[in-house]
Amino acid sequence: MEYRVLGKTGLKISRMGFGGIPIQKIDAEGTKNLMEQLLAEGVNYIDTARAYTVSEEYLGYALQGIRQNFILATKSMARTAEAMAKDIDLSLQKLQTDYIDLYQIHNPNAKDFDAVQAPGGALEALRAAREAGKIGHIGITLHAVDLFEKAVELPWVETIMFPYNIVETQGEELIAKCAEKNIGFICMKPLAGGAIDDATTALRFIAANPNVTVVIPGMAEEKEIGQNVAAISNTAPLTEAEQAKIKEIRDFLGTNFCRRCNYCTPCSAGINISMIFLIEGYFSRYNLKEWAETRYRNLEKKASDCIECGVCETRCPYNLPIRQMMQNAKEVFGE
Ligand code: SF4
Ligand code: SF4
Repeated sequence: MEYRVLGKTGLKISRMGFGGIPIQKIDAEGTKNLMEQLLAEGVNYIDTARAYTVSEEYLGYALQGIRQNFILATKSMARTAEAMAKDIDLSLQKLQTDYIDLYQIHNPNAKDFDAVQAPGGALEALRAAREAGKIGHIGITLHAVDLFEKAVELPWVETIMFPYNIVETQGEELIAKCAEKNIGFICMKPLAGGAIDDATTALRFIAANPNVTVVIPGMAEEKEIGQNVAAISNTAPLTEAEQAKIKEIRDFLGTNFCRRCNYCTPCSAGINISMIFLIEGYFSRYNLKEWAETRYRNLEKKASDCIECGVCETRCPYNLPIRQMMQNAKEVFGE
């Protein structure tokens, strides 16, 4: 396993980290098995979030006795100092630790981006927590390029997490800027939220970019760990066959692929547009039909609620045929 320094934090981390979203689908004991395998494979970076329901809790259980071997990162959607202070304490409690290495502001939109840095904003609590020794470093996670552009210029930002994969390369120049400015770049969504099924090619593509400090594929099965470690550890240049595969993936997902940037919001009918497409992708492209069905049935608004006003399409920077895609989701799930 290759190790890198995570920008200004100075933390030495494995090039592949562990994305803690999918463990919501397993249990605490299963998470413990994964942690033991990560340790054996030399993976030392773990990412989770307050928003990932039981993820922090499972990790807290799984890391008992081995916590010191890992660099632990989490994040919160809190936007005020008061809410962030509470979330930091809650993360410490759920993770069963007295110290979190990296705490991130989780995906603020344009309005929140300013609010978190204003007096009384979340950043205040993060700085206080760092002074109190509860956390080590402060980062931010984003989905929009314009906010990435701003974040890279902010002196308090030690790490930035942003989507980067074969079909989402919109952040590439800014990722290079992170390297120039010694900001650790954490690559999220390496498989484009599950849209890319060839994990090896997807991870090889990311590892070929020297400006990516760490990539954090979500994993819930032990076999995925070995496969992903092998892909990241292979430092040979991309072969012609791999380049062809990358092109094939781009052609397949092409223009009708939702990047989950949420510029299309708000929907006139209250539909969570990107969530519908994400779940539909899991259902149609992967063997996660039952899981996708359950998530879809739990949505308050379904694709069938679309009134075909078309407002979302005027906002989508990728010109996606959202109404047509809603119709498709409605046919897939029957409502
Ligand atoms: S439909 Fe378009 S605007 Fe909406 S989340 Fe997807 S890519 Fe972004
Ligand atoms: S076209 Fe459908 S999905 Fe788009 S904003 Fe209107 S109701 Fe929402």
